[in-house]
Amino acid sequence: APRRKCLLGNWKMNASLDGNAALLAAVGQSLAGLDQRVQWGVAVPAPYLAQVRGLLDGTPGWLGAQDCSAHEAGAYTGETSAAMLREFGCRFTLVGHSERRSLHGETSATVAIKARQALALGLTPVVCVGETLAEREAGQTFDVVKKQLSVVIHEVGHCVGELIVAYEPVWAIGTGLAATAQQAQEVHAALRAQLAVATPRAAQMLLLYGGSMKPSNAAELLSQPDIDGGLIGGASLVAPDFAALCQAAA
Ligand code: PEP
Repeated sequence: APRRKCLLGNWKMNASLDGNAALLAAVGQSLAGLDQRVQWGVAVPAPYLAQVRGLLDGTPGWLGAQDCSAHEAGAYTGETSAAMLREFGCRFTLVGHSERRSLHGETSATVAIKARQALALGLTPVVCVGETLAEREAGQTFDVVKKQLSVVIHEVGHCVGELIVAYEPVWAIGTGLAATAQQAQEVHAALRAQLAVATPRAAQMLLLYGGSMKPSNAAELLSQPDIDGGLIGGASLVAPDFAALCQAAA
């Protein structure tokens, strides 16, 4: 069976009660007739999970979080556990977004434990990997992303096939400069080959591209054989753009 396409918005720290309601009303309306083989969802700041759960009710949209704790419960001030996310209806959580890695010191080891915690609670971890511009220019792209993924593969054991992987070149995030379809495809193919060593489900797994995806470049990226969708930052905050991206996947 062909893989479904999947478009996930990452709102980052951009949200308000009124803004969320307006955005999702517009998105829901635009996507009412969307091809059912296209899955969409939004990763929202934790305080809005309850609200957005209600706003998504009756739509096929997935509710997601942007991070989860590596710990189960206890004295971890400021953290949100996978169990809490599950209780509020999350279907997925991002783990290892480059902003968490670079601004909050997250290592691949921590990201891997977060992925395992999410899986233990029935949440799909969307594991983000990607090289910096310096790493790309030094010819290290494949080494860097494979190393980031391999730590997660080893940590989650027989659950590898349940992951979603997002390839997000750091130099493309929020810069307006997306990877070319060829640059993204060759990394996706390498990641899928790496997954295939660990799980018989690699051919069914969803590999998303992220980094300045927008209506003008989506069709070409999404037409690549190993690109199954997108993780979308800026454009996910603009209803017509997010809807156009979902439609480009159909
Ligand atoms: C992201 O932060 O996951 C992302 C892809 O951002 P943008 O689409 O704004 O580049």
